Amino acid sequence: MKSLIVNCDSDYNLACEKIASRLKRDGHDVTKAGIDVKNINKYDNIYLSAIYTWNIPAMIKLVQQITAGTKVEIGGPAASVMADYILLKTGIKPKIGLDARFDSEPSKYLSTYTSRGCIRNCEFCSIPLIEGKTKEIHDFIPAPIVLDPNFLACSKEHIINSCEKLSALPAVDFLHGLDARLLESWHIELFFKKLNLVCWRFTFDSLKNESTLKNVLAMLKNYQIKPAEKIIIYCIYGFSDTPEDAWDRVNLITSLKAHPYAMRYQPLDTLEKDSYIHKNWTSTKLVEFKQLCNIPTMRWLNDLLRRVRTTTAR
Ligand code: SF4
Repeated sequence: MKSLIVNCDSDYNLACEKIASRLKRDGHDVTKAGIDVKNINKYDNIYLSAIYTWNIPAMIKLVQQITAGTKVEIGGPAASVMADYILLKTGIKPKIGLDARFDSEPSKYLSTYTSRGCIRNCEFCSIPLIEGKTKEIHDFIPAPIVLDPNFLACSKEHIINSCEKLSALPAVDFLHGLDARLLESWHIELFFKKLNLVCWRFTFDSLKNESTLKNVLAMLKNYQIKPAEKIIIYCIYGFSDTPEDAWDRVNLITSLKAHPYAMRYQPLDTLEKDSYIHKNWTSTKLVEFKQLCNIPTMRWLNDLLRRVRTTTAR
């Protein structure tokens, strides 16, 4: 059985890796490819996964080239959000949410989830829509990049057990950030004891949370964690803020010596990345803001990641 797995995005796609591992175990001849895959009609089964909605048009175009008779499955977070649209355009009903056939597939992965969902309901975020409230995954497979939407919203027992499991890894990075409003001293002590944390990632989406941000940095300072060395703060912008508000947040972060990372708002069902422009912004201001914030931060972060890779490879 010849099976093709298409990752519709350029990012690492955990679902694609799990499907590939499971199908290989079942004896399939598996090919993994990106959205630019050629000769799509030489496979018996095709699985497509999309993380970002703006890659859905390219995915649909690809699906429309597949000849009748091939078994085609579509999934991924973007497909969950855009299920009706995909069905309309391709005649294929996407798999919504997690797929029990593949989700617990044991293998070596780059990323993992110890939990899904979130206790909060931020208007700009698709997690509550796709994953609902926080659900802990007790039998998760440890991997260095933890993608939990809100790890600190999990129970204390789950956080302790997860850190124990993750402690076997040379380094761990909570890529989607930690909820600063939930951080307590015992978390910091536990992370220190159990994990080689690459860096501390938080979000600062509203000036209303200024005191929370300052408190968290002060707490971390008590443990000798220096913002300039270890702390990155995500800032959503272009949603309902103004350029002045966004700059106020970034200037506050830099005044506290942490590293800001600007994340441009994309509507949950956008089919074109960066096409949305809120009335408070202009296209130029949106682009400039991101460049001015992220170029220095990425320079620092890439250097940090290089150093972590060098020390953990020894
Ligand atoms: S806290 Fe984070 S994951 Fe939860 S809804 Fe808000 S943005 Fe999404």
